[in-house]
Amino acid sequence: MDEWRQRSLRELPPVHRLLSAQSAEQLAAEHSRELVSEAVSQTLSDLRAAISGAASPEDLIGVPLTPDEILKAAAERLRRRMLPNLRRVINATGVILHTNLGRSLLSAEAVQAVSEAGSRYTNLELDLTTGERGSRYGHVEEVLRELTGAEAAMVVNNNAAAVLLVLTALARGREVIVSRGELVEIGGSFRVPEVMEQSGAKLVEVGATNKTRLSDYARAIGPETALLLKVHTSNYRIIGFSESVALSDLVELGRVRGLPVVEDLGSGVLVDLSGFGLDPEPTVQSRVAAGADLVCFSGDKLLGGPQAGIIVGKSQSVDILRKHPLNRALRIDKLTLTALEGTLKLYLDPALALDRVPTLRMLVAGAEKILRRAEAVGGTLSGAVGSRAHVEVTEGASQAGGGSLPGQDLPTWLIAVVPLSRSVQEVEADLRASQPPVMVRIQRGQILVDLRTVLEDEEDDLVQVLAGAL
Ligand SMILES: *Cc1c(COP(=O)(O)O)cnc(C)c1O
Repeated sequence: MDEWRQRSLRELPPVHRLLSAQSAEQLAAEHSRELVSEAVSQTLSDLRAAISGAASPEDLIGVPLTPDEILKAAAERLRRRMLPNLRRVINATGVILHTNLGRSLLSAEAVQAVSEAGSRYTNLELDLTTGERGSRYGHVEEVLRELTGAEAAMVVNNNAAAVLLVLTALARGREVIVSRGELVEIGGSFRVPEVMEQSGAKLVEVGATNKTRLSDYARAIGPETALLLKVHTSNYRIIGFSESVALSDLVELGRVRGLPVVEDLGSGVLVDLSGFGLDPEPTVQSRVAAGADLVCFSGDKLLGGPQAGIIVGKSQSVDILRKHPLNRALRIDKLTLTALEGTLKLYLDPALALDRVPTLRMLVAGAEKILRRAEAVGGTLSGAVGSRAHVEVTEGASQAGGGSLPGQDLPTWLIAVVPLSRSVQEVEADLRASQPPVMVRIQRGQILVDLRTVLEDEEDDLVQVLAGAL
């Protein structure tokens, strides 16, 4: 063996010596001696391989060889290993309910509730007045009844689970009538006909894609009909020559024929957003008032809470769902439940919800406010990158995303960046690999940054990551 190679291998410090260094002790106190020892051994074994594989001593330049350097490399290795895989990302895309980025952010109130419920025992299924076993749904039922006007309420894992539970419990082995214009597919494999099949209910399609009339439903009702289902076309619109049946008319038909009427509302809103220049979305309250037996919707779309499926409606129907064995498998977890309660309580005053629920705050944020932030952040960025990029603020549009408010552009101001020393693709890949990762929009050779979805306390990190990647 070459003499330089032999010497390098021989001079590598042994594990026990490295572990007794002060920096190793500190690291062990922070993590564990076992994990530090593993990281040091693995670093040493990589080093041995590097030394054995080097063609000449020059190949070892920059390779950590002193005890200090080896410990630093081991610490970095351990840090990467302990870094959560699921971690924060800065969303500069302007898509508020970005499904890939976790849809809604929780309010500070909801986060506080989760932290407490996660680290302490709770009265999850205990009635504190009687000392008897209580219902986990009781914690949100009252506030949901108050907010929606419904007789009863319950919650499950997500809205897909809610729809599955409703169809299974109320229509298994029987027929469900749905308009052909409402056979919705939601991104990520939720399709009304397929959920129907899973539930064991038989789909009876009526009407045409663009037009369905009340008489179409009426004609399809037979001895096997279990319920009439309306699905909110939350992620698309049929415009032009089109007609659909109002929920209230369907409810009247159901009443006359003795059939329950259910609406899958998709993204449930509890405050009327039309005053903020947004297309009117049916509120949950309005659907309950229209007389639907059951209405189900998501917790983490426009509501701005945790992932959950909320079902409100008549006590008689909700009771059947509660007792159904499938409900146990779709059960909501205590952390979700507490986050949901924390979110719903804010809705007791709509103005409070608009101010504290991040999804709502982002939705109604005015363009002037975003312009002011974009000018400040754009100015700092421009100063930081100098001649490496061209930075300007331009008009643009944000999206609600998450399959809600389709085709609705929210006026915004974008920071448009043209990198001058690297390609847009290289910069975009670097932004994703940064700490924290930054997600942007790419359009016609420009990197577009929309501050609507960037929290104010993320602006410094954003500038730093952008400047680093440019
Ligand atoms: C989003 C949506 C669902 C699925 O809800 P999740 O909470 O994502 O499971 C079901 N139906 C409609 C109409 C939707 O928009």
